[in-house]
Amino acid sequence: MQQHPEARSSGAVRPPAAEALPVTALHGVGPRLAERLARLGIRTAEDVLLHLPSRYQDRSRITPIRELLPGEEAQIEGEILGGEVTERGRRFLLCHLRDATGGLTLRFFHFSPAQEQLFSQKGGRLRCFGEVRQGYTGPEMIHPECRRLDAGVAPVSDRLTPVYPSTAGLQQFTLRALAERALELIEKAALLPELLPAAVRSQLQLMPIADAVRLLHQPPSDASLEALDSGRHPARRRLAFEELLAHQISLRRLRERMRRQAAPPLLGNGGLSQRFLERLPFALTRAQRRVLAEIAADLAEPRPMLRLLQGDVGSGKTVVAALAALRAVETGAQAALMAPTELLAEQHHRNFRNWLGDLGVEVAWLTGRLAGRARRTLLERLAAGDIQIAVGTHALFQETVAFAELALAIVDEQHRFGVHQRLALREKGRRGGRCPHQLIMTATPIPRTLAMSAYADLDTSVIDELPPGRQPVKTVAAPDTRRQDVIERIRQACQSGRQAYWVCPLIEESEVLECQAAAATAERLTAALPELRVGLVHGRLGATDKEAVMAAFKNADLDLLVATTVIEVGVDVPNASLMIVENAERLGLAQLHQLRGRVGRGSSDSSCVLLYRPPLSPVAHARLATLRACNDGFEIARRDLELRGPGEVLGTRQTGEQNLRVADLLRDQDLLSAARYAADRILRDHPECAEPLIRRWIGSGARYGEV
Ligand code: ADP
Ligand code: MG
Repeated sequence: MQQHPEARSSGAVRPPAAEALPVTALHGVGPRLAERLARLGIRTAEDVLLHLPSRYQDRSRITPIRELLPGEEAQIEGEILGGEVTERGRRFLLCHLRDATGGLTLRFFHFSPAQEQLFSQKGGRLRCFGEVRQGYTGPEMIHPECRRLDAGVAPVSDRLTPVYPSTAGLQQFTLRALAERALELIEKAALLPELLPAAVRSQLQLMPIADAVRLLHQPPSDASLEALDSGRHPARRRLAFEELLAHQISLRRLRERMRRQAAPPLLGNGGLSQRFLERLPFALTRAQRRVLAEIAADLAEPRPMLRLLQGDVGSGKTVVAALAALRAVETGAQAALMAPTELLAEQHHRNFRNWLGDLGVEVAWLTGRLAGRARRTLLERLAAGDIQIAVGTHALFQETVAFAELALAIVDEQHRFGVHQRLALREKGRRGGRCPHQLIMTATPIPRTLAMSAYADLDTSVIDELPPGRQPVKTVAAPDTRRQDVIERIRQACQSGRQAYWVCPLIEESEVLECQAAAATAERLTAALPELRVGLVHGRLGATDKEAVMAAFKNADLDLLVATTVIEVGVDVPNASLMIVENAERLGLAQLHQLRGRVGRGSSDSSCVLLYRPPLSPVAHARLATLRACNDGFEIARRDLELRGPGEVLGTRQTGEQNLRVADLLRDQDLLSAARYAADRILRDHPECAEPLIRRWIGSGARYGEV
């Protein structure tokens, strides 16, 4: 293996080892241990080094027993006064210890005969580490780690002791020993070479990676435990920075590769758009006009547009999508609009057909329901270019679907899809070195920090204004004992010509049960409100039935729509002005905001009642209070981030994929700008660093985007 002893001091970049060193190359790692390590994502010796402790213990001091505080972890030393096995309810072993300042009891629920013997040896000395509790007779430790002190004295550790995230059957001492062995290999096997150029390191005052890793696995006893435990120690930030940088570089590179592809410039003559706008019963808002100009400028280029369109629920993204699609049609090409659910695809299809049918634009709905001959005909017309706009779910991008000239792919409600799904779609759209323009729309406002990380490959447009006349949705929270009052409210609203939603969210982890609950609620409400026309829609309803119910609600042939969360995104019925959400305490902020966004889409007063089952947890209370006080999706997203952390805000699918090992988007958000800047600099001045950084932090996960 090559050695570059000067590499660290000069800051030169060492070529990475050609092959990663498998974890089994570490002394003592056999197949069984390797399998357990793999469960933690540890496959190579480098992985061992990057598997960082989640916290630390201070075993560098001995605490006098009298100074112990309940709830704290501490190390003590004492003499055994005696041991006993007790069988009061449950069998356990007690061992009484004493030092010069006081007494302490050790309590074990599981113990071997050998331990029973050891802990009963009067006069023996023990050193124990564990959490202190207040027992009946004085301080106690339950299942502490104990060591017998034979010679009477033993040096205490001069380091803080790491505690690693672990899995069943994997002991802390195993992980500690592995880290120790891997640390030795940093020098010997050129493991974890420095990948950051000296200029970047010195500008940001980052320590060499080897020093950072060594410190994090074996911190000296005088290192700040507080900084280490909170993840704010410079050594940890050094690694977090590198990881964020690797993600930035990866997304930037994807973006550059995409931008190098050819795309059809969509100049359009504006004729169709003009006629469309003249028929529209409202004028576009200033924000809509602004984002349309941004989109039009992108579309006119011979490179693919990669644009994220953010706009709060009800801000009018669909019209923008239609106008973007018309650019493609005016240029003689096709556009595709992908929605996350059949329900939403159907609604988009209906809207587009109403808006564009008279203009002679062929709009088709490619639904999973379509089969046999009808499907074949549709696919043929799509391939021949007779259909200009296709609407559907992700089925649009199946192998069997071919477009004559797909020039623009629009993805609605992207937060429902994962980052990788989005990138995969991109691949599907690519044909013969040509790539469609892409418009990604989302109603879940993405806080800036997250936008900068998960969407670093996209440009952003924001609709930051609602259409005129919208009234904020009046939101109240009520315990479900007030159900009868709520039913009266529905009666009044519907009698004055309004419509209402009643949403039954998932309570059990089962769609079947959720649908049953909705069906039962619909029955009860039908009985309670005999004068109203009550409809029911849920995920297990056939597509035709779903469509019929939604159409009836839209046409005001139904007064009250009982639904599961299938109506969460996109559904647009402006005359509906009252929404009831049951079990609101179970839902997240973003989801509640989305649901609430189904009302307040017209100019009449709207309200939302969040029914909850008391007692409320503090977090649920905070969520409901936020919704009552706030109607702005961006502000809600910011608070959501505080309440839940970035992982959940992006959705499990996205975080599962994004998979940060060291960095934490919330804690380390101040590093993002620097990482972004450094990514540009590295791609420009040190492109050879890009690949090894991506391989280290993202590994094979980055392959999805290879062009
Ligand atoms: P979202 O951004 O949540 O997808 P939609 O596109 O469904 O919002 O629009 C919400 C409602 O607002 C629709 O009924 C739409 O017709 C209407 N709308 C859109 N733009 C305007 C506007 N400029 N003025 C008035 N109403 C508008
Ligand atoms: Mg929408």
